[in-house]
Amino acid sequence: MTTFAALGLTPALVRAAHECGYAEPTPVQAAAVPAALAGSDVLATAQTGSGKTAAFALPILQRLHDDAREAPKRTQALVLVPTRELAAQVGESIRALARHLAEPVKVAIVFGGVSINPQMMKLRGGAELMVATPGRLLDLVDQNAVRLDRVALLVLDEADRLLEAVFADELARVLALLPARRQNLLFSATFPPALQALASRLLHEPVRIDVPQEPAAARPVVEQHAVEVDAAKRTPLLRHLIQTSGWTRVLVFVATRYASDHLADKLRRSGIAAAAFHADASQGARTRALAEFKAGQLQVLVATDLAARGIDIVQLPVVVNYDLPRSALDHLHRIGRTARAGAGGLAVSFISADSEAHFRLIEKRQGFRVARERIAGFEPAAPPESFAPVPANGGVKGKRKSKKDKLREAAARGG
Ligand code: AMP
Repeated sequence: MTTFAALGLTPALVRAAHECGYAEPTPVQAAAVPAALAGSDVLATAQTGSGKTAAFALPILQRLHDDAREAPKRTQALVLVPTRELAAQVGESIRALARHLAEPVKVAIVFGGVSINPQMMKLRGGAELMVATPGRLLDLVDQNAVRLDRVALLVLDEADRLLEAVFADELARVLALLPARRQNLLFSATFPPALQALASRLLHEPVRIDVPQEPAAARPVVEQHAVEVDAAKRTPLLRHLIQTSGWTRVLVFVATRYASDHLADKLRRSGIAAAAFHADASQGARTRALAEFKAGQLQVLVATDLAARGIDIVQLPVVVNYDLPRSALDHLHRIGRTARAGAGGLAVSFISADSEAHFRLIEKRQGFRVARERIAGFEPAAPPESFAPVPANGGVKGKRKSKKDKLREAAARGG
């Protein structure tokens, strides 16, 4: 086990890291910080939750601290991210880590979906470090609000999603605006072929960091529960759980934007501080909801899978699958919102007769079963056969219901 000081960081950064609650470096930080400080390119496999943000933020800040500052402030480090939310979150993490540096580092956060003028105003006078989504960054370049010709350090954060989220030519345009001589740090959860191709073009003799997914000791424990309930009773059950379980902060996942608005509305009408969070909401509403949720002013955020990836809410104890996720991977992303960085968390899935088969598939993919529970007063009225125990062979084979499943269900309905 190493320490932040032993990684070669200046005391102001070590202090800030400790104040952020980081007692010691995570494995990806222990590997990436020294490599990046030595000036190497880095290619790291890192999931959200691994501590990857600080793994690039700390060496960037150290370099800005060490290097003679240019005046007027020119952008020397650029972090490209796939989404607005991630831009805001990464920017805030970096600001928190920079707060004790004797010479303040200006961190600009740039993303689309909001009006460009306030961002342009904020960029006046420059910013040494910029966290940006590529599209808006290019708009700002086109408006002469940003220059990228002094960027000495580039980070591609969640690079696999970045490739999915932006147009390839946008990314190529941004890269073409950067000086050829620079350091590149690339962090990604997966390495699809397109990303491998980009990495081999972009990176110069990178240090490869492959931290095993989650070291056993630090693996956050998500306690999973599966509660059987009729679909129509899910809202009263959720209300009951929120009111009786002492949950302070609950992220509830639903399948559609409509359901998100509708359920948030119902909860509010029962006096629960809840808000919807989905892609149709304005950026302002999304930012506000997230900020209030993080600040503890909102007890419940009712979200679509938009919130399942990337969003980091420290101390999010409970995630509820009101509607089940589409895939086992989405399930992993959803429950990954809780139990961040070693803290325990709780994931509760509502299972109704018609989602039981789908949940079995998720269980099969994730490699373990979750015991079914019922809650007094909310027991399903559907015939018990429809919640039949999983056959020894693991049950459902594919995502779609098999003929056998349909027959079984029809039999259970008495059809
Ligand atoms: P990330 O992978 O960057 O999204 O970070 C995931 C979470 O881990 C965030 O809540 C960070 O605040 C937290 N975190 C980052 N580094 C550490 C550390 N060294 N010790 C404990 N928590 C950390």
